[in-house]
Amino acid sequence: VTQDSVDIFKAEYEQEAKQRRQLRDELKAHLDDPYQDALYVLFQPMVAATSTRLGCECLIRWDHAEFGPINPALIINIAEESGLGRALGAWLLRQVYLALNTEWQTINERIDIAINLSDSFFNESLIADVITVFSDHPEQRKQLIFEVTETMTIEDMGRFNLLMNQLRDVGIRIALDDFGTGWSSMSVLSHLNFDKVKIDRSFVTGMAHTSRQHVLVDTICYMAHQLGIRVVAEGVETQEQLTSLKQMGVDEFQGYFFAKPLSALDFYAFCIDHLNH
Ligand code: C2E
Ligand code: CA
Ligand code: CA
Ligand code: CA
Repeated sequence: VTQDSVDIFKAEYEQEAKQRRQLRDELKAHLDDPYQDALYVLFQPMVAATSTRLGCECLIRWDHAEFGPINPALIINIAEESGLGRALGAWLLRQVYLALNTEWQTINERIDIAINLSDSFFNESLIADVITVFSDHPEQRKQLIFEVTETMTIEDMGRFNLLMNQLRDVGIRIALDDFGTGWSSMSVLSHLNFDKVKIDRSFVTGMAHTSRQHVLVDTICYMAHQLGIRVVAEGVETQEQLTSLKQMGVDEFQGYFFAKPLSALDFYAFCIDHLNH
């Protein structure tokens, strides 16, 4: 290793650290100032196989003036490590509340909204935040589904179970996200009581190539249904994938085949279109 390459590495590292610090400071400013619009959420449709209900997943976006679009995983990561997890979560809930109380009001009876939870947001303060944000429309809490991952549950399943029950008490459903990607999917499923599982996109993509993946998805569906859990497939991109997922009994589909993540207004238009067909 030459001194030059060490210097280049050091410079890159410092550059990255500087960018992270800048993003952290700006994220904090964004969350403090509700008039900023560089940070926003999009809504990706989820279509059910046999009902006319529609769903969507909220996905965060940040169009940065200097760095361009920021990877959502990086936004969450920065928020988590700088203690902004709860503030970001509360902001997200607020965005959902605002969307629900636009023209969506005319179709709220028939739509569900999934929200991804980050580690620090899934704790005792979450219930308080939900109650506060939805204080004028507590009935809308029934539309919410929180998506959690198995890594969040592992540390303390007893505590996790308690939190899940508290959320249920205020009308919220819970989905297990990225199902099948971790080592403890079975263990989590056997200990905790979910309303939905979301089969990870990697299985859906793999199905076309290997019959193994096909068998796995089929078996996940069978198992979930035996437990009374609905199954969602994410990352559905083709008609072929949709057809085989339907044959396996998957209940809901999400992916570019139906729509990319949409603005609140475009999601409304998507719903009107689908609910009328
Ligand atoms: P995720 O929860 O697994 O979200 C699904 C990701 O798959 C989204 O990426 C979505 O845009 C993408 N996707 C959906 N359909 C398709 C498809 O047909 N093909 C392909 N190739 N991709 C598809 P996105 O928006 O980049 O989000 C990435 C991850 O960042 C999410 O994965 C989630 O873990 C996290 N994330 C995004 N928004 C939030 C948020 O508001 N809060 C938290 N805690 N995490 C978030
Ligand atoms: Ca998700
Ligand atoms: Ca997922
Ligand atoms: Ca995924």
